[in-house]
Amino acid sequence: MSVHVAMERFLQANGITFDAGELRGYASDASFLTLGVPSLLVFPKDAPECVKLVDFAVKHGNALVPRGTGSSTAGQAIAPPNAVLVDMERVGACDRRGHRRGLFKPQVVDARGEPVDLKRAGPDEELYVRVGAGQTSDETNQMLRPFRWGVAVTPSSGYSTFGGNFATNARGSGTPEYGPFAEAVSRLRIVASSERGARVLEITDRDEIRRLAGHHGLCGLVTELDVRIAPIPKPEDMVCAILSIESEDMERLGATIGQLMKRVSASCRYYAGEFLFIDQTIVRPDDPVRRDPVLGAYFEVTAGVRRMVLLYRGRKEAMAPLPAIAAGFPEVSYREITYPQFQAMMRVRTAATGKSVARLNVPGCEDFIVQDPAKFGEVLAAMFDVLAGTEGRPVGHHYPDGIVVHYRPQARVAKEAIEAAWALNLRLRGAVLRPELTTEDRREHGLGLALFRDALPSRQEELRRLKAKYDPANVFCSHLLDPKLKAEFVGNEFRALP
Ligand SMILES: Cc1cc2nc3c(=O)[nH]c(=O)nc-3n(C[C@H](O)[C@H](O)[C@H](O)COP(=O)(O)OP(=O)(O)OC[C@H]3O[C@@H](n4cnc5c(N)ncnc54)[C@H](O)[C@@H]3O)c2cc1C
Repeated sequence: MSVHVAMERFLQANGITFDAGELRGYASDASFLTLGVPSLLVFPKDAPECVKLVDFAVKHGNALVPRGTGSSTAGQAIAPPNAVLVDMERVGACDRRGHRRGLFKPQVVDARGEPVDLKRAGPDEELYVRVGAGQTSDETNQMLRPFRWGVAVTPSSGYSTFGGNFATNARGSGTPEYGPFAEAVSRLRIVASSERGARVLEITDRDEIRRLAGHHGLCGLVTELDVRIAPIPKPEDMVCAILSIESEDMERLGATIGQLMKRVSASCRYYAGEFLFIDQTIVRPDDPVRRDPVLGAYFEVTAGVRRMVLLYRGRKEAMAPLPAIAAGFPEVSYREITYPQFQAMMRVRTAATGKSVARLNVPGCEDFIVQDPAKFGEVLAAMFDVLAGTEGRPVGHHYPDGIVVHYRPQARVAKEAIEAAWALNLRLRGAVLRPELTTEDRREHGLGLALFRDALPSRQEELRRLKAKYDPANVFCSHLLDPKLKAEFVGNEFRALP
């Protein structure tokens, strides 16, 4: 019999949508980690349903784990089997009948939360869009585009929810200018607990919002946020640049690019700084990007030589020093490209970490930051040593506080291939996550299941304080505080295809 009988009866009686049984599809998130198969998944449609749910959980001692789109790559969005998984995708994104709507009329406010008419707003105003936690940047951008505004900080997973972006303190396009997601929120509503039931809190204190960002669901169900938006710059005010370097010697290549990045951080301001390695299989032979008169040449690679491509986009005046910086590195080629060409390269970069029908990417050495770009050469040398003979390639971001590197090995959809990819990730982590390389694990995508194990002692202390303040009943994600928490790679459960 289900351990959640009373909860199921309560959900049924209150008309709150749920699914029960062996929910294998929710055993993992984009991390491939698992704590087991959950048996109850609740889909609240709005804040009042969240309040009822939390109230019941406090009174009956149920553990709750919030989940957005499950795009987390560090196991944040998975639940132990005895916990109830709470899918927040519909919250603030539904019509009155409870149907999730993709499109909505954006409600724009200023930093104090006062309504603003976006049609009359000036480009220098500090504005926010009031969104439900289940909404996504992709949807919001579609609605804001006619006004020539967009969400200021958007992770590459533009389909992930705002609630998830806040809970992981996501970074992405716009971060070099606006900071991580913590800096892009001016107000939030959260259904927290008290010892007796649910509490709805509205938080506007910016320091408290910064502390709560990256809470990994520990403090409650976030239902609504005011999220910073930014005017879409006019194409004539912007510059897009592509820089390229190739070498057989990864240490030299990385050292050169690390130095270049240091100078860029010191002298330029930009919205996006991205890099990728190009190899023969990165796009298909018939991909139109190969026929682009400018971009095509970047896809002609010599065997044994690796090419790294760096892409920047920023305002012309803020990027004015870039050509001279690049000229200081004779091995680096520099050229300005159009915005559509920049977007075409960004599509390649995004797809380089994506999935296909025949193979998938196994996260594990997903996201680490090299804090001192001077160490980039040593990091790349260590990485490519481990990667010799394997498929896939590193991609990443150049942020003002360091270089974020992502790597996901490509694996055939078969148990032994996926397990080999996972083992490769573990070897890679051993090679690159070393203090002398100034690397830090998962600054970008969040620490996930290692939140307590790997956070700095000062952050552990802060999280304990936040937990006691917002969740005295200890119903939210209490497993994250368990020092003995151990997740398994979901491959252990995976059945090989015939
Ligand atoms: C292809 C790909 C690209 C990615 N690119 C980036 C990137 O550029 N930058 C980046 O930072 N990350 C990136 N990620 C990681 C991930 O997408 C982000 O961490 C994202 O913010 C997670 O959002 P989600 O809605 O999927 O949340 P989930 O993965 O479902 O959940 C994430 C965390 O948020 C909590 N949570 C979710 N909703 C709520 C809520 N309403 N209230 C309280 N807690 C909540 C969950 O408990 C969990 O701890 C990427 C992932 C993939 C697969």
